[in-house]
Amino acid sequence: MEVEGRITPVYSSAEVDRVEGQGVEALKASSKQPIPDPDVWLTEELRENIFLTTVDAVLNWSRRSSLWTVLAFPACCAFEFISAMASRWDMSRFGMEILRASPRQADLMITAGTLTWKMAPQIKRIYDQMAEPKWVIAMGACAITGGTFAQSYSVVPGYNRIIPVDVYVPGCPPRPEALLNAVRMLQDKIAKMSTVSR
Ligand code: SF4
Repeated sequence: MEVEGRITPVYSSAEVDRVEGQGVEALKASSKQPIPDPDVWLTEELRENIFLTTVDAVLNWSRRSSLWTVLAFPACCAFEFISAMASRWDMSRFGMEILRASPRQADLMITAGTLTWKMAPQIKRIYDQMAEPKWVIAMGACAITGGTFAQSYSVVPGYNRIIPVDVYVPGCPPRPEALLNAVRMLQDKIAKMSTVSR
């Protein structure tokens, strides 16, 4: 409409601003959540079967569930170990039913017995030939300190003089339950291993 040479706008600028503001507010109100990706990346079968974990968890689980013991039992504690392997205590429940005559196929040494200095080089050689990573359970008083024979000139006062020990089981001899408890303690220790720090 033209009045005295001026064009009068149909809508006032305030009205234009108000309508524009209403539009912006409506868009803001409807944009509170992100729009989901419409693409389907996984099939239903995959979505229900993927399990995420760490390399350490898988490696440590497999190592602690399949400890293979090397045959190296110098004295009488060995009979308690044999009992632990038999049906009443049944070490195979821990994946340990396989005893290896070859140290290269074993990763656990259970030092069931008195160790003399004459026998020590052979035990150390067996340990050195075992596969890495490897562990040692010192079973019985003789294995820990030399036991009854600690003052003897011929007895090693503890296996830890020649090889590193992970778990100690006291007793003369320790009962199979004590040995099984030591195995559980060793499994807990293995579960905390870090592949990177190794
Ligand atoms: S701790 Fe006792 S049972 Fe075991 S090896 Fe020594 S003397 Fe024998």
